[in-house]
Amino acid sequence: MGYTNDMRTYKYQIRNHPQNKRLGNMLDDLADVHNHFLDLEKRYYRIYGKYAGRYRLQPHLTKLLQRTKQHWVWIPRDTLDAVIIRLHIAWQRFFDWQKKGNLKGRRVGTPKHKAKYKFRSAKFQTGYRLQDGRIRISFKAWDNNSHALKFERIYFSFHQHRDWSGDVRYIQILRDSVGTYWLYVVTDNTAKEVIPATGESVGVDFGMKDAYLTLNTGEKIQHPQPLKASLKQLRQLNKSLSRKIKGSGNWWRAVRDLARLYNKVANQRRDWHWKLATDLCRRFDLIAIETLNLEGMKRLWGRKISDLSFYQFVEILKFKCFKHNRELRQVGQWTATSKPCSDCGRQNKNLSLSDRQWICSECGSHHDRDINAAINILRGCLESSVEQM
Ligand SMILES: [Zn+2]
Repeated sequence: MGYTNDMRTYKYQIRNHPQNKRLGNMLDDLADVHNHFLDLEKRYYRIYGKYAGRYRLQPHLTKLLQRTKQHWVWIPRDTLDAVIIRLHIAWQRFFDWQKKGNLKGRRVGTPKHKAKYKFRSAKFQTGYRLQDGRIRISFKAWDNNSHALKFERIYFSFHQHRDWSGDVRYIQILRDSVGTYWLYVVTDNTAKEVIPATGESVGVDFGMKDAYLTLNTGEKIQHPQPLKASLKQLRQLNKSLSRKIKGSGNWWRAVRDLARLYNKVANQRRDWHWKLATDLCRRFDLIAIETLNLEGMKRLWGRKISDLSFYQFVEILKFKCFKHNRELRQVGQWTATSKPCSDCGRQNKNLSLSDRQWICSECGSHHDRDINAAINILRGCLESSVEQM
């Protein structure tokens, strides 16, 4: 999920109830819709050499609902349409990325077939009502007496731990990997919460070894203890999974435990990212960071980078900086930040990834690798040739 500047998303857990299986059935059916239209697009392309797009597919859906796919009709129409629109956008994104010459940005793939259990979310623009911690969804059902479809209103209650602000644009129902259902309320709240200026700037280095973040002030920010403990548990569980016989009862149990723990880690980390971003915004007017080169980092570090999830943190930081009127700058991708000595500017060409401390051969300064980089990042951003975000 992205954090855009003109929308806010509020997340609530839907209380467990046997009724929730309706939501599960709906998502399963939506997976069918997704796969059906994905196949259709591919077939259309083979025959006509171009893609059909949503404006051809949506009228086609109308026909399907009358003929061969009548069993989809119980789901609100705009929720079915949203699946087609999502596919449309995914293809668009793929074409845009192709046009750019395959060189810039993250690799974008074509939309893929989805297994039912992997189909996670449904969007509602109409056909729902929110009130007093409950959500009412208008499904349709065949009525044998009147021989017609009639509305069947189903209520789901959710844990409304806080109120949303702004007008609700749409809602989403999500199913996570452990079978919990969530309600996302998306509003158009764009109110800024301006924090008084502090006159301070900071350079931030993302680290893999000593600290998660290192500031040019010398401050090192580590993973919080509960998250560290969960990450350790995650490693242990992964190891124990690999010792089990694939497909056995114990193996399945470990898979389930792993999914549950992975969720917990993701939540803990997201909470911490929000706190961290808030803290930086409170203390600094200008925040300078390096440019993340995700593909490069993945090559260099393997899986670890996705675990550390700097990408998510930067997305949250962008949103927070917008909200609190802070300036976020990224130092140019080709600006060297590790090797130059921050005191005299001499490049330490022999610096390797394992050198955590070094002494400048020119001026004799003793450097902590990450602090030195954070100082260079801030300096790089304050100079003229910066990419402003
Ligand atoms: Zn030096």
